[in-house]
Amino acid sequence: MAGVIRRLDETVVNRIAAGEVIQRPANAVKEMLENCLDAKSTNIQVTVKDGGLKLLQIQDNGTGIRREDMEIVCERFTTSKLQSFEDLSAIATYGFRGEALASISHVAHVTITTKTADAKCAFRASYSDGKLKGPPKPCAGNQGTQILVEDLFYNVSTRRKALKSPGDEYSRIVDVVSRYAIHNSGKSFSVKKQGETVADVRTLPNASVVDNIRSVFGNAVSRELIEVSCEDQKLAFKMKGYVSNANYFMKKCVLVLFINHRLVESSALKKVLETVYAAYLPKNTHPFLYLSLEIAPQNVDVNVHPTKHEVHFLHEDSVIESVQKHVESKLLGSNSSRTFFTQTLLPGLPVSGVAEIKTSSTAESAERVYAHQMVRTDCRAQKLDAFLKPKDKKPPGPEAAGTSGGRTETRTDQSDCVEMEDADMLEAVCVHEAQGPKDTEEPGVPSQDVQRKRPRTEEEEEKQEEKQEEVTAAATPRRRVMNLSSIKELRAEITEKTHRGLQDMLQNHSFVGCADPQWTLVQHHTKLYLLNCTRLSQELFYQILVYDFGNFGVLRLSEPAPLYDLAMLALDSEDSGWTEEDGPKEGLAQYIVDFLKRKAEMLEDYFSLEIDEEGNLTGLPLLLDRYTPIMEGLPMFVLRLATEVNWDEEKDCFRDFCRECSSFYSIRKRYILEAEPGQEQDAEVNSWRWKVEHVIFKAFRTLFSPPKSLSEDGSVLQIANLPDLYKVFERC
Ligand code: ADP
Ligand code: MG
Repeated sequence: MAGVIRRLDETVVNRIAAGEVIQRPANAVKEMLENCLDAKSTNIQVTVKDGGLKLLQIQDNGTGIRREDMEIVCERFTTSKLQSFEDLSAIATYGFRGEALASISHVAHVTITTKTADAKCAFRASYSDGKLKGPPKPCAGNQGTQILVEDLFYNVSTRRKALKSPGDEYSRIVDVVSRYAIHNSGKSFSVKKQGETVADVRTLPNASVVDNIRSVFGNAVSRELIEVSCEDQKLAFKMKGYVSNANYFMKKCVLVLFINHRLVESSALKKVLETVYAAYLPKNTHPFLYLSLEIAPQNVDVNVHPTKHEVHFLHEDSVIESVQKHVESKLLGSNSSRTFFTQTLLPGLPVSGVAEIKTSSTAESAERVYAHQMVRTDCRAQKLDAFLKPKDKKPPGPEAAGTSGGRTETRTDQSDCVEMEDADMLEAVCVHEAQGPKDTEEPGVPSQDVQRKRPRTEEEEEKQEEKQEEVTAAATPRRRVMNLSSIKELRAEITEKTHRGLQDMLQNHSFVGCADPQWTLVQHHTKLYLLNCTRLSQELFYQILVYDFGNFGVLRLSEPAPLYDLAMLALDSEDSGWTEEDGPKEGLAQYIVDFLKRKAEMLEDYFSLEIDEEGNLTGLPLLLDRYTPIMEGLPMFVLRLATEVNWDEEKDCFRDFCRECSSFYSIRKRYILEAEPGQEQDAEVNSWRWKVEHVIFKAFRTLFSPPKSLSEDGSVLQIANLPDLYKVFERC
């Protein structure tokens, strides 16, 4: 018997349609992010509970929605962005279908709170099945829109069941937000779980694309990027982005692709780009690529189904080929220019063009062109020397001049057993490779001792599960999410203690110059400040250690440094405070070696501090691109690790370690004093000056949350206020 064909109830139809548009929480997030960007927001905050199934909240500071539009925003085909079909071909905004909010409201409880610039107050309204539940109510609120989506798929049990892993869904959400954050540098994004104080991904308004790639994927990749950009008038497209060079690889290819500012996928493009890298990378390894394509709107079919991220466009093969050629040429170019660069910057080689550009850094002693004598129009504009590698030290002999891979010894009088390669040639190892099985290990336990003392709590049990899910998640490899509550607390402390005024000053200052390694002069608005770079850099490295915890690249020592020798050196120095009562130095040194060896696994996993079986130090964490600590501090660091760190309590242990390590990495006065009597002072001097200005102060702009204590302990001194100075001059 034939079944009776019945017309489906309209709400059922809508629900089915909605389920197709929004298949999982990450789809909803993507649609809502695009709405925020359409509304010209510059700050977007995403909060998630249970992988978005319980709650998704997107807060922006955009134009807001007018009170009179609130009634219809959740109806299908209502949009403020499209009037006629012809508009479709010239569409500049993300959304145009007016389908997203409507769909979401058919499968979730939606509440919108919004305020436009000229409205006297904000309004809040709830929606269900595309309809307003009651008249919008006036309430307090800042300009912008907050969309709250609760109980997603509450009425679609099959879909709900299909999405049984909140950890997986959360990873996908973080992934989507991260990608939009990278593409929209200049705007700040954050995504966090509800109830957490610290975001899992956070980008700052001042950050560049590369900064954002660093915050999402880690500095192992961000330091190995090549900028790409090309344009083809005939094919009517433009492309720009960043791709990893031949020194970097990961287990899985990451292609962050935007076409006309919409996050999309193109397996055809991915395949072609992978073959380009196949010639450069080890077998079974893959590149990282962020590409933004702008294609004439009439050539792209924007009307793709929202869940179909795969795009197609006119002349696709030719466009892909053109992109491929460009990336290939850049890869080739970067290889040869590396060699060239290293060679030309070696001292003593008269290379005309380069020598001129170097004026600001190397010829300083001769010509004395101080930074403050240069005219600067934008405090963020980099000087040319930022693009020149500093000479870390004069290479020992002529043999080094010929080979780009030649090692430069960095010997200091104390620790002559330590040898490091030239800063730029240090081997940076991708931490992501260490992911996989390690992630599934017991989290939150730094050492055996602690493990025994503390039974796992229920919460940790849960997190453990989540973590395992994250490992299996289909999301692309990215930073390891570290769920240790101790680290989260340390991060929260940093946020809490931040001095906003000081942060603003550091973000927007103009660099004037270094008095010595410890003191640096900067200008902000009309005020001049003297900053204690030792204190500030120590705090900066501390924060990097806490934030990048578990995600560092490695600075490989070119030769293993025996911990025993290091400990002996430290004990021999006055600073150690060793007295005969402490017992023989040899015994203490051996104890330190044995002790640190027992912590080796944890130190490597969390801090990329590598100690081999024989008790040699082989690697240090890479905290900032192009920055290596002065090795002179290494012996003391090793000694203090054994004596000043409370290894029994997880949080204390991490905090103490980060404190000791950051003090080792900080810029210190000794940097120059120790080197002064030597003949090669110039290189040394230039090297720290360069590092302070282009590495440390660059990081102050984008990565630093200065604590209030810095404003109280004399680390930041205001030494002049220009208007006051003018007054003084007027009197003269
Ligand atoms: P579309 O983006 O395709 O127009 P949506 O369903 O995504 O459709 O959104 C419907 C309308 O709601 C948009 O056209 C816009 O006017 C308004 N809107 C949605 N989100 C925001 C937001 N975050 N800020 C301002 N307006 C918004
Ligand atoms: Mg939209």
